[in-house]
Amino acid sequence: MNNKQRLKFFWKITKIINKKFCKNKLKIKDIIFFRKKKRLFRNTVGIYVHDFKVIMLRESIPIQLQIKILCHELAHVYERQIIKIDYSNIHKKRLGSKKYYKCAHNKKFHRLFDKFLKEVIKNFKIDIN
Ligand SMILES: [Zn+2]
Repeated sequence: MNNKQRLKFFWKITKIINKKFCKNKLKIKDIIFFRKKKRLFRNTVGIYVHDFKVIMLRESIPIQLQIKILCHELAHVYERQIIKIDYSNIHKKRLGSKKYYKCAHNKKFHRLFDKFLKEVIKNFKIDIN
């Protein structure tokens, strides 16, 4: 799969999640692959930039992992856009710290992520692990 096909596939995944769990209310403007090793993202494999409604995924990792990261970021999108959890306060104070990580990745978040990933596996009959 080249990048263009991969992107198409990821949009398909995004649409399925949006329809099934979000009544098509998620707004995502772009999905972008990145490769630069900028300092801030050195260990980052994916990120959702809420201000721009953009999901960014590291280009150089295996597709199975990218699919997982996409589901992970979609769970963040869901929390920000549908449940309207405001991460920004935690973000400003504790960015990069373990506390921030815990706040943003609690049990509820993981349940959501599992639900999204299961749906993707069911729809595309792919082997993620
Ligand atoms: Zn996260």
